[in-house]
Amino acid sequence: MPWGMAAQSAAAGLCGAAIVANAALVDGGLAAVPLQSAGAVVVALVASLVLSAELRRQGRVLEAENQRRRGAEARLAQLNAALEERVAARTAELESVIENTTDAIWSVDRAGRVNVINRIARNRLGIHLGAAFTPDSPFRDESARVWKVVRGLHDRAFAGEAVQVELAVEAPDGVRHAQVALHPVRAGDRVVGATVFSRDISQRKRDEQLHRQHQTELAHVQRLGTMGEMAAGLAHEINQPLGAIANFAQGAVRRLQAETVTPAALLPVIEQIAAEALRGGEIIRRLREQMRKDEPHQEALDINALAQASARLLESEARQHSVALDLELAGALPAVAGDPTQIEQVMINLLLNGIEASAGSAGARRVVLRTTTESGAVAVAVSDNGAGLPGPPADVFAPFFTTKRHGLGMGLSISRSIIEAHGGRLEALPADAGATFRFTLPAAWRGGHGVFGGSAESLGGDSACGAGVRRA
Ligand code: ADP
Repeated sequence: MPWGMAAQSAAAGLCGAAIVANAALVDGGLAAVPLQSAGAVVVALVASLVLSAELRRQGRVLEAENQRRRGAEARLAQLNAALEERVAARTAELESVIENTTDAIWSVDRAGRVNVINRIARNRLGIHLGAAFTPDSPFRDESARVWKVVRGLHDRAFAGEAVQVELAVEAPDGVRHAQVALHPVRAGDRVVGATVFSRDISQRKRDEQLHRQHQTELAHVQRLGTMGEMAAGLAHEINQPLGAIANFAQGAVRRLQAETVTPAALLPVIEQIAAEALRGGEIIRRLREQMRKDEPHQEALDINALAQASARLLESEARQHSVALDLELAGALPAVAGDPTQIEQVMINLLLNGIEASAGSAGARRVVLRTTTESGAVAVAVSDNGAGLPGPPADVFAPFFTTKRHGLGMGLSISRSIIEAHGGRLEALPADAGATFRFTLPAAWRGGHGVFGGSAESLGGDSACGAGVRRA
C-alpha cells in the first residue's frame, strides 16, 4: 500500500460505491453487487501485489545505491585522512626548512602583527609569533634606525610593491649587510600583509671587498712592472729635453760672455729652455701618475685623449723596436665613465703586447689603435702584424699565461677584469695576420664603483706625441 491504509481504504470505499452505483444504474437492481464487489477485490489485490513487488524492487535499488554511497564516503574519508596526514607532514617539513634556514623569514599583517617567524628572525629581532611588530619591539641587536627602515619596507609592500634592497646595519661586531626581499600578501584585490626574507650577506661583502683589494694590489703591481719596463726608454727620453736645456743655456752663457747679444735676442732662447723644461716635467708627471695608487674613482673619459696619452708613453718603446705606432681616432666619440688610469693601463698593456709582437716581424712593423663607436658603446681595437696568438684566445687571458722570457702573464687577465668592472668586454679577434685585441665600454656608463685602485686626473690630450694620429 504505497499511499498508506487510509488512502487505500478510501480508494476501496470509492470503488465499492462505484460498483454499487453501476449495478443500480446499469443493471437496474442490486443483485449483481456481490459478484462485482468480489471482482473489484480481486483486481485490487492483484494491483496491490504488482505495486508491492515494484516497491520492493525500488527499495532494493535504493539500498544498493545507499551502500555504494556509504562505500564512497568511507573511501573519501580515508583519502581525506591520508591527505591531511601528508599535508601535516609537508607542513612540518616546510616549517623545519623555514625554521632551520640561515635567512631571517617573517610575515606580518597590516597591523604589524607577526604571523610567521623563524628562529633566525626571532633571535635577530627578539620578536615572537603573534607579537606586534612595532617601534617598541625589543629588537635584540637592531637599532631604532633599522626599525624605521623595516617599517618603511613593510609599508612599501603593503602598498603592493615587491621590494628588493640591500641594507647596511651598524652592529657591535662591525657593519652587517643584509639582502632583504619583501612581497605583498594578497586576499583577492586587497593586500593583507607582507612576507620578508632577509639574508645576511656580510661575509660575501667582506669577500668582495677583499677580492677588490687583491685585484687593486695586483693591478698596481702589474702597472709598476710595466712602468719598470718602460722606465729605461723614458729615462732616455728625458735626456733629450735635459740635453737641449743644457745646450741652449751654454749657448746663451757664451753669447752673454762675448757680449754679442741683446736681451731681446736672448728671449727666444730662454723660452726654448722653459719649453724643454716643461717637456721634461711632463714626462716625469706622466710616469708618476701611472705609478700612483689612489682610491678608484669615476669621471667622464675622453677615450681618444687617453689613447694619445698611452701612445705618448710608449713612443720610445716603439722607436727602440722600430715599430710604427699609429692612432686612427673616431671624430666624435661619446664620453664613457671610468677610471682614467685603469683604462690607460689597459691601452698600454695592449699596445705594449702589440709592439713586442710586431718587433719579431720580418716585414713592416706596425701597431694601430683604432677608436670607433658601435651601438651605444665606444670600441678600442689594437692590431699588430706580429706572429699572431700562440694559442686559443681563452689561453692568453688566463692569469700567469706567458710565452715571454720575462713575462708575468697578468697583463691581459688584469685588463679583462678592469674592462668588465667598467661594464665592458675585452676579447681577442680572429685575424689573418698578427693579432687584434678589442674592448668596448658602454657610453656614459653609470654602474657601480670601479674595482681597482689607482687613479689620476685625466691626462691631457695635446698632440705632441711622435705617434701618427689620424682622425677617422
Ligand atoms: P705578458 O705580456 O706578461 O706575457 P699578457 O697577459 O699581456 O702577459 O700576455 C699573455 C700572453 O698572450 C703573451 O705572453 C703572449 O703569448 C700572448 N699575447 C698577448 N698579446 C699578444 C699579441 N698582440 N700577439 C701575439 N701574442 C700575444
